[in-house]
Amino acid sequence: MKLIILGKPSSGKGTQAKLLAQKLNLKHISTGDLLRHELKLKTPLAEKVESYMKTGSLVPDSLIIELLKNNLPNDDYILDGFPRSLSQAEELEKIIKIDLVIDLFCEDDLIIKRTIERRICQSCGAIYGLTVPSKVPNVCDKCGSSLYQRPDDNEETIKNRLDVYNNETSPLIDYYKSKDLYFLVDGSLQIPEVQELAMKKIATIK
Ligand code: ADP
Ligand code: ZN
Repeated sequence: MKLIILGKPSSGKGTQAKLLAQKLNLKHISTGDLLRHELKLKTPLAEKVESYMKTGSLVPDSLIIELLKNNLPNDDYILDGFPRSLSQAEELEKIIKIDLVIDLFCEDDLIIKRTIERRICQSCGAIYGLTVPSKVPNVCDKCGSSLYQRPDDNEETIKNRLDVYNNETSPLIDYYKSKDLYFLVDGSLQIPEVQELAMKKIATIK
């Protein structure tokens, strides 16, 4: 099974993708995580993408598509953060057949609040924030490591990321509707509720 999880930044894509991947035994492929990994390793690609990521703009297609192709497994997966534009969706269609697109919808106000509150474990990648804060501030519940804030999770950059979403990514909604692959979930619901709605829908396509 090949799934796409769509939504604005902080809509819960990463959280839900991780849960779905565990439950359904899928690989979780996040282009944001792949890019941050490149930055951490200071690869040649990192230099090319850093400025785009800092401001929340899209990394050029040629770079992101190459990175994705190099990291797509042969077995089943859930894509998180790709595609982010019509041109990327068209590219993807040349490579694989998608079974379902799950879109997590949230209003912009909530997105801004969630993004500013978001903290990530530097060692295991667990995500904390507005709805699920860590028990001890800045310490991961799961592994005890310290939490960090993504450099692009600030008020200025999130506004740009929302503009990018509205201009470049939101046309994917009609694109996938026209292919009868689109499923909308209210992303403002609690994590387990979102999860249940997504799982129920997935059960109908298996
Ligand atoms: P979020 O969904 O919270 O905005 P991601 O971790 O998915 O964050 O992406 C972080 C940044 O990485 C984006 O703002 C963008 O600069 C870059 N990026 C990730 N995926 C793509 C993509 N498919 N195309 C272009 N740029 C991307
Ligand atoms: Zn952790």
